[in-house]
Amino acid sequence: MVATTRSSFKNPPPLTAIGSTASRWFYVLVGVAFLQTSLTLSPIPVPEDEWVEFARMLRDPAFRLPTTTRPRHYQVTLTPYFDVVPANVNPFTFDGEVTIYTSPTVANVNEVVIHCNDLTIQSLSIGYQSGTNVVDITATGQTFACEMPYSFLRIRTTEALVLNREYIIKSTFRGNLQTNMRGFYRSWYVDNTGRRWMGTTQFQPGHARQAFPCYDEPGFKATFDITMNREASFSPTISNMPIRTTNTLANGRVSETFWTTPVTSTYLLAFIVSHYTVVSTNNNALRPFDIYARNNVGRTGDWSLEIGEKLLEAMEAYTQIPYYTMAENINMKQAAIPDFSAGAMENWGLLTYREALILYDPLNSNHFYKQRVANIVAHEIAHMWFGNLVTCAWWDNLWLNEGFARFYQYYLTASVAPELGYETRFIVEQVQMAMFSDSVDTAHALTDLNVNDPTTVSAHFSTITYARGAAILRMTQHLLGVETFVKGLRNYLRERQFNVAEPHHLFTALDAAAVEDGALNGYGGITIDTYFRTWSEKAGHPLLTVTINQRTGEMIVTQERWERNTGVSQFPSLWHIPITWTRAGAPEFEDLKPSQFISQQVTSINRGTTGLEWVIFNKQESGFYRVNYDDTNWALLTRALRSSSRTAIHQLNRAQIVDDLFQLARANVMKYNRAFNILSFLQFEDEYAPWLAAISGFNFLIRRLAHDSTNAALLQKLILELSPAVVAKLGYLEPENGSYMTDLQRMYVMEFLCNVGHEECNNFGTQAFRRWSTGTFIPANMRPWVYCAGLRHGTAEDFNFFWNRYLQEDLSSEKVVMLNVAGCTTDQASLNRFLDAIVSGNDDIRPQDYNAALTSAITSNEINTLRAFQWLRNNVDQATRTLGSVSTILNTIIGRLLNEEQINEVSNWLTANQNTLGATYSTALRAIETTRSNLVWSQQRISEFTNYFESGYVEDVIEEITEAPPTAPPTAPPTEAPAVTPAPDSANVAALSFITLIITLAVNLA
Ligand SMILES: [Zn+2]
Repeated sequence: MVATTRSSFKNPPPLTAIGSTASRWFYVLVGVAFLQTSLTLSPIPVPEDEWVEFARMLRDPAFRLPTTTRPRHYQVTLTPYFDVVPANVNPFTFDGEVTIYTSPTVANVNEVVIHCNDLTIQSLSIGYQSGTNVVDITATGQTFACEMPYSFLRIRTTEALVLNREYIIKSTFRGNLQTNMRGFYRSWYVDNTGRRWMGTTQFQPGHARQAFPCYDEPGFKATFDITMNREASFSPTISNMPIRTTNTLANGRVSETFWTTPVTSTYLLAFIVSHYTVVSTNNNALRPFDIYARNNVGRTGDWSLEIGEKLLEAMEAYTQIPYYTMAENINMKQAAIPDFSAGAMENWGLLTYREALILYDPLNSNHFYKQRVANIVAHEIAHMWFGNLVTCAWWDNLWLNEGFARFYQYYLTASVAPELGYETRFIVEQVQMAMFSDSVDTAHALTDLNVNDPTTVSAHFSTITYARGAAILRMTQHLLGVETFVKGLRNYLRERQFNVAEPHHLFTALDAAAVEDGALNGYGGITIDTYFRTWSEKAGHPLLTVTINQRTGEMIVTQERWERNTGVSQFPSLWHIPITWTRAGAPEFEDLKPSQFISQQVTSINRGTTGLEWVIFNKQESGFYRVNYDDTNWALLTRALRSSSRTAIHQLNRAQIVDDLFQLARANVMKYNRAFNILSFLQFEDEYAPWLAAISGFNFLIRRLAHDSTNAALLQKLILELSPAVVAKLGYLEPENGSYMTDLQRMYVMEFLCNVGHEECNNFGTQAFRRWSTGTFIPANMRPWVYCAGLRHGTAEDFNFFWNRYLQEDLSSEKVVMLNVAGCTTDQASLNRFLDAIVSGNDDIRPQDYNAALTSAITSNEINTLRAFQWLRNNVDQATRTLGSVSTILNTIIGRLLNEEQINEVSNWLTANQNTLGATYSTALRAIETTRSNLVWSQQRISEFTNYFESGYVEDVIEEITEAPPTAPPTAPPTEAPAVTPAPDSANVAALSFITLIITLAVNLA
């Protein structure tokens, strides 16, 4: 599954770690939101319950099925009913029959336990075949029901099951077409005929049990024959496998039976009962690949087909396991689902997606969606091998599925569509995001060996599992080299195919490949197993602090577990860190094979040169660690980054430096004035990755200074003064044949600059909005910021025009873009109209988009936050009815409150409504505490900001080295070292004392 990121918390992350469950939740949500502040076009909220479900099943052994029996094969028949139903049948229900072939794994089993949820069991029996008879051994006097909360269906037998004998469980039942986008659920859409009902599925992690009784855990793999009895007027049903037989039943329904699935876990099953059509097809009988959607989406399935075919071929070449041999008659289908809780789901042979994430219109979908469709397709296709063929044994090792899928989401896609910039974007979108989420003491390990209470881990399960998993795999690929890494993975897949895996299976396979290729020679005997366990079984990651004796070239490298609020974790930890580094005299950023491991807390490394020379650790941010340096090295780096030879430092390392500086300063390991001094190089910087990292960093600070209008304005001024180079590169108007990455960068940078008040940006945006409202076409990449600028500086009529266009719009990605900016309106009545529309419960905004819309309404303008609160006071009942809870709205509002007066206003209302708010009340109180501590934090740190606002850039004075070093440099020829001017004296100078700061007026920022 692609876990969707949340857009519900645009406010900055809280300052202090609080140990409660809710605040951990909050952490993870904002961890994702931290990135989202810069990528507001990212998708999409997912119902929190999804991850609560994961956590519940993950943590509590009482939820696990006994392993005393094991299924081999199922036959499942379902008859769904929508709004037109026969007598005695309720609308939106289904009838079902299941036959399960199962055997005992141990002796003396008298009870079989399987799963069911929200099913009424009408009949159930267990028996075994004896000649032509079935011997019934169902104990009498049982009532069969789904026992909650465990979802167990217990079947007692009259005799113990006999080893090596297969038993047959038969059941008939009735279920409900769910409304919450889980299980077998109903959805609707409008096509050429009008409004249509459909039934579709989302079974991960444990919702197959809502469709039929089954062993609903990933480890119970079996084959499935699925039959669907649909209404004759519907289109042929779509399921994992193609249709094998079609019959018309006496009642007029059409019965479709599908080919037998591969040996699979239940969570990978899927079926769609709808009026869908094939909207794009490759017409290739040998490698059938089709896109399904409602019949009025035009050619918007073409991109996902084109890229999907390429990705499938690339993955086959990579794994050397052909997809179309995974089961007899298997084909490949992707379907666009109008209501979908996750982003996408890797059902075997039938990938399902939100419409916006698969239907791409080259003219009207922006570049975010072009790469998003490609990489989400890559993610799901990678799962056919990593997840479906080889499945995590239990959800606590979900990273074996999702880490790989996230990794290939970038690197597989890069191999077939290099122009889309995946290798560049991986750093800001995954590595930096993962480090942020992973840098609190409450972070969990990839493989969590401790069973904690069931409610603690949930949302961060997703962020860390996906992004950190991917980042560690990338680091491992660089360690082994691509060929050895792939060789090991091929062995892993072959050995575990149609089975489940645990991390040790992966490590063993990689180690075998490493030995064969000598890939770990020269690293002191370390193995993948030893190395990887420090990354998979420990939470957190290290900060390396590098101190260089510029006279001798000795580099002292210290590792400590990084914590983003204090700098150092309360829980010391050491990792086996594969490191890379380079230096000014011979800058080399391409070879990412680590030079050595750092395993101790303190390690000495010889740079090999003497004299003043910068070093950079973690080339291309290929390792999962942050780096800090001594003052001299930072001073040397600052000069280099501000010089014309700036690009000698790799773009990804410039992005790393930006991200590390913002985080070092946030944790008070470095003062903000010092960090800004180094970051001043942004005024010369125009590349994608450094700017995306900077936008994230500045967005955090903009929130932190929002309450202090004077200094907030100075911060905005500073940002604007850093922007000329990037604006000069990008311009405002999208050229006809611009490069993909430049056009994408323009979208993000202009969105950011317009938000911080860049005058030209806003002028251009409002003028373009005017042209748009009189019928001129605006390129899709310009719309997010053009719409926002137009609404922000516009009137109620402008909003009215905009909102009518939204209501008429049929392209899902454009609708999401419009929802994301609708809150830019500064007209109070228009804001209220938008908020009313969100909670009206009518069809204008789908539930999957509620959070994105609310975030936009509350956070797009400072002034809207309290207006949204006023609106909430008047509409809390309606909001609660539609949203289920107003907790998300309230927390978003509270996170943006600017002073005690505002806090009191909200607090008073909370107190007055304590009884009706229920659990929301206590989470809101905690959010208020966080807001208060953020205000205190800002007060404590503000002098560092004002210091820099006053001084501007200050050139560091670097004391020159005065004498030749006592010994000759061991490796580097002297010519490679930068010129060193002799100066009178400086015996016994430690590296840290080389530098003193003097005040020099900044030329460029004054
Ligand atoms: Zn996934």
